[in-house]
Amino acid sequence: MSTAIVVGGGPNGLAAAVTLAQHGVQVTVLEAADEVGGGARSSEAILPGLLHDDCSAIHPMAVGSPFLSGLDPDRYGLQWRWPQVDCAHPLDDGSAGVLYRSVEQTAAGLGRDGGRWRRLFEGPVARFDALNTDIMGPLLRLPHHPLTLARFGAPTALPASGLAHWFRTPQARALFIGVAAHAFRPLHYPMTSAIGLGILTAGHRHGWAVAAGGSQAIADAMAAALIELGGTIETGVRVASASQLPPADVTLFDLAPDAVAQILGDRLPRRVARAYRRFRRGPGAFKVDFAVEQRVPWTNHDARLAGTVHLAGTHRELAATERDVHAGRMPERPFVLVGQQYLADPQRSVGDVHPVWTYAHVPHGYTGDATAAIIAQIERFAPGFRDRVVGQAVRSTGEMAVYNPNFAGGDIMTGAKDVRQLVFGPRITLSPYSTGIPGTYICSAATPPGPGAHGMCGANAARLALRHL
Ligand SMILES: Cc1cc2nc3c(=O)[nH]c(=O)nc-3n(C[C@H](O)[C@H](O)[C@H](O)COP(=O)(O)OP(=O)(O)OC[C@H]3O[C@@H](n4cnc5c(N)ncnc54)[C@H](O)[C@@H]3O)c2cc1C
Repeated sequence: MSTAIVVGGGPNGLAAAVTLAQHGVQVTVLEAADEVGGGARSSEAILPGLLHDDCSAIHPMAVGSPFLSGLDPDRYGLQWRWPQVDCAHPLDDGSAGVLYRSVEQTAAGLGRDGGRWRRLFEGPVARFDALNTDIMGPLLRLPHHPLTLARFGAPTALPASGLAHWFRTPQARALFIGVAAHAFRPLHYPMTSAIGLGILTAGHRHGWAVAAGGSQAIADAMAAALIELGGTIETGVRVASASQLPPADVTLFDLAPDAVAQILGDRLPRRVARAYRRFRRGPGAFKVDFAVEQRVPWTNHDARLAGTVHLAGTHRELAATERDVHAGRMPERPFVLVGQQYLADPQRSVGDVHPVWTYAHVPHGYTGDATAAIIAQIERFAPGFRDRVVGQAVRSTGEMAVYNPNFAGGDIMTGAKDVRQLVFGPRITLSPYSTGIPGTYICSAATPPGPGAHGMCGANAARLALRHL
């Protein structure tokens, strides 16, 4: 029987392990933390019974993930829940750009931009299932559906600020650019539309779902599938050097490239080691979870129903804050993302106290405290919020890296998504999962298709490992 070691039990490590085990490989996962899940863990961080997502919260990319759908998630206790409104981006005048799963419903709310929203998304959403097989893998390969991909791909090359200007209303501009800003990039740079268009298209197809019982349910489902297939999980094992690795036919790392370089040392071909050490990190996230009595008193009605609320003001203001963050300057009013997962999954609340998940975009390695700036941004669109907070839990960029070294400096994307790293992954190659050592692979969110709890980086790398075996 062939054997495999997977270092790191995040969604991608677990997906790699399950994929290998499904093909009869004896797999062992070595995980540094006391439990698996990486960026898909949940905890009662503030009050007993009040359930917060420690990292990932909203899953438009995971619902339609070919790996997760193929797992029969229901059988392992993974169920998706959807809020009434996917995302709202409120503005100071009390209006908002409002996103629904339906393109039609979204367009209907965008006034004279409705037609443009429809034109941008109707086609790709109708063909999303075909498109998904191409965008959930390395970008540089022969596509299965070249025409569909080419039609989808053309606007992804544009800077998000440029594409936002194609819309005419402040609501549609803000709605689009708020999602594009998930890329953590200056929004006037080329290809900064790509991640936003991907999330929006997937969301219009599958909705901005949350996992019932917290994002931990995603990792738990993968772990249960692995155990059922005869795999082994060892927690509390931090791999620091190659000498710690048990012998195996294949080894996969669910780690950032710089960590892989450190562990494998001079076993890596020199050109790969150089590329991994030069891997560029992105800005940071500063996270605050709140326990909130009653609900967040949003001025805008749709924000009260939205699973996700983007707080930044206009598209211009957001573009300026993202430029500052990229340049290492902490903006006075940062981009704040708010998750109200309990609206779709009420079991996370305790009576009338609700878990509210937030993080702000901050410079990489930011050492200050962004809590006051986050509260001020929420107060701007929900006056009176502060008085409803009965508890909070803060995770700074430094604490984020301790929680999970893949998020060094608070970089929750596992690497900057600049054009080179977005297109190629950790190094310039047509085989982004290969480390250059036969039988040894990298499968974290630093590889295509990138961040998210969809498991597709792991599943793709495992398929390469199976071919080697
Ligand atoms: C605050 C925050 C919010 C986010 N929001 C969303 C969201 O809403 N939607 C979304 O789709 N994504 C979101 N993400 C991103 C998502 O969580 C990640 O992209 C995803 O978890 C990446 O999965 P992974 O398996 O590649 O790596 P990780 O989840 O980083 O897992 C890596 C695992 O490796 C372990 N490890 C690290 N070093 C070692 C070592 N030396 N030895 C052994 N084990 C080690 C870690 O403990 C961890 O368990 C968010 C992330 C954060 C932090």
